[in-house]
Amino acid sequence: MKLIISEKEIAARRIAKILSGDGLSEEKICGVPVYGFKIGDEDYKVMGLRGHIMQVGYPKEYANWVKVDPMELITARIEKVPIKEKSINKKATGKKSTSVRVDYVKALKKMADDTDEIIIATDFDREGELIGYDAWQVVKEKNSIAPVKRAKFSAITPRDINEAFAKLGKVDLNLAFAGRARQDIDLIWGATLTRFISLASFQIWDKYLSVGRVQTPTLTLIVDREAEIKSFVTIPYWVVNVKLATKSGQEFEATHKKKRFLKKDEAHKVYNIIKDNGIVLGVTEKTRKLTPPAPFNTTSLIVSANAIGFTAARTISIAENLYMNGYISYPRTDNTVYPSSIGIGEIAKMFDKSDEFKEMSREVTSQEKIVASRGKKRSTDHPPIHPTAVAEKKNLKSDDWKLYELIVRRFMCTLLPSAEVKSIMADIDIGGELFKANGSNIIKLGWTKFYPYFKHEDVFIPDLEANQILTVSGKEILDKQTKPPSRYTQGKLVEKMEELGLGTKATRHTIIQNLIQRGYMHGNPLTPSEKAVAVIKMLKKHAEKISSPDMTSELEMYMDGIAGGDQTKEEVVDKSREMLKDVMVNLKNGKEEISQEIKDGIKKDLIVGKCMDKSCDGNLIIRTSRKTKKRFIGCSAYPRCTNTFSLPQNGLILTTEQKCKHCGYPVVRVIRKGRKPWDLCINNICPGKDANNKKFRYSKGSKKPAD
Ligand SMILES: [Zn+2]
Ligand SMILES: [Zn+2]
Repeated sequence: MKLIISEKEIAARRIAKILSGDGLSEEKICGVPVYGFKIGDEDYKVMGLRGHIMQVGYPKEYANWVKVDPMELITARIEKVPIKEKSINKKATGKKSTSVRVDYVKALKKMADDTDEIIIATDFDREGELIGYDAWQVVKEKNSIAPVKRAKFSAITPRDINEAFAKLGKVDLNLAFAGRARQDIDLIWGATLTRFISLASFQIWDKYLSVGRVQTPTLTLIVDREAEIKSFVTIPYWVVNVKLATKSGQEFEATHKKKRFLKKDEAHKVYNIIKDNGIVLGVTEKTRKLTPPAPFNTTSLIVSANAIGFTAARTISIAENLYMNGYISYPRTDNTVYPSSIGIGEIAKMFDKSDEFKEMSREVTSQEKIVASRGKKRSTDHPPIHPTAVAEKKNLKSDDWKLYELIVRRFMCTLLPSAEVKSIMADIDIGGELFKANGSNIIKLGWTKFYPYFKHEDVFIPDLEANQILTVSGKEILDKQTKPPSRYTQGKLVEKMEELGLGTKATRHTIIQNLIQRGYMHGNPLTPSEKAVAVIKMLKKHAEKISSPDMTSELEMYMDGIAGGDQTKEEVVDKSREMLKDVMVNLKNGKEEISQEIKDGIKKDLIVGKCMDKSCDGNLIIRTSRKTKKRFIGCSAYPRCTNTFSLPQNGLILTTEQKCKHCGYPVVRVIRKGRKPWDLCINNICPGKDANNKKFRYSKGSKKPAD
């Protein structure tokens, strides 16, 4: 029997369907669905995993946080152990339902004896290679002679799958070991630093403070930006605008050439000089091309999807689902240049009969020659993200369709000609002062015709010529002020991480998700908590290296070196151990200060607002009852003030600066895994809450979810 191992269950089913033509059998082995079929006399079985089935960890003797010095973890032995499956497959048999624990490792071992050949068909990248390698090692324990082969593909379509299985290759050990080095390094750094910082600030058990090789420099970006915003000094300035009209009554606007007046009276002086007429000094016209966007890679997909309301994690999860259903190519790729093998013209033609996309498809295929745009990054593992099958709107969930549509439109756009924009600049003299008018309009739609996500606002200016006299029909002075830099959105953060070499296309969205779930940052755009500010401040002071992206991107480079065969896994992991030892020596020296600062930060995060009692000067603080272990809000002036408010007991509670619009009480944000965060007024008898269900009626606060 030939055993095919894929990364996910749904991929297994599709691969089996494609290879078998028809006549597919299905069975469950240790709770794992396995698909069987025959080709000629040969029996095939396909089994899908759930991503990684093995993880790295420390032996039991290192489990106690209090007894083991975190320093010991740097050199401790690392074990590879099966990941325990938490979820249980429920099977209804008659009235009773029995639970079967899904056990991938057991299932692989059970099938090992009958296996004559193993074919690894996991995703083709560093993590996928490691997942396949680990599964192979499990089979090998029982059956060491079965040869192993590798099927490489970038889309789960009949064409790609049949091609991949017709020319099977070898498992790339270098690639798998690069993945393993990443696992080891992340474990060593994460466990050592997390334990040290958590113990130093007495935040253990479920309150631990996680610190990591990639997440910490990422969080530093958010904390630094917040500091920039807070220390930003706004400068007032004034802008002088005029409204002008031609003889035929066409109106447009012009701005004084100085744009920003830093002194108010200077602006007023110019304003007062403006008379009834102006004269055109000269006009210049330029036509500029708007080239089509580059093909999507993971980062640019996340950025574009974020602009239409998807978080990074959601984008990746939907994209994976679309990939496994055969609708799009593999969504984890850095590549932005189409290889000739994917047949871009055929893909465009495929949409010829689609209700939604036929017009676009015809526009693309009717060109004499189809020329694709190219991005800056080129790699050979996977093509840029593109559609691989025509989906119908009614067959997809609304969000899935939205993302699919974005991917199809982007693909088509990359095959369409540039748009053209005409810009006109006119110099106008009014009472001896120079004003400038800038107009622009799209004169050729090109790719923008089918890409509603791109927005261009035409600014009107009539045809003008030198010496033409214009009437001044209005004038104004605008009071303005300089603005601080803006906070990072999730999309912008992913982009910045890529630029700095933080994380990989496969991990960036998860890192953001984790930072949010650990209470380090929230909202979109992202704002750090006080705890995050304190942790980063202390790491910067005592271990600059962990907060800066340089070391992490250096390690990332070494891991690429393993994949390329230039370095061994052991060399790279040892190098990272040495780096970490230096870091820890410095941290230990600053332990007391670190402890104090972080505790203060955590306290600040717990302040909900000023006490509602007018005669009390205390703060309302989130506390945990010693007796019942339940959390509630109490006043810092207790026992003098006995004001209390109840709180929901599940999920993370974040303090906000908002006040309830119904009653003026402070509002807290409740974050639960897998749900949209919601804002809650702490006042139990708030008039904004439903009379029937006063206890926890949650007001719909923020428009943008923070997850
Ligand atoms: Zn009080
Ligand atoms: Zn209220």
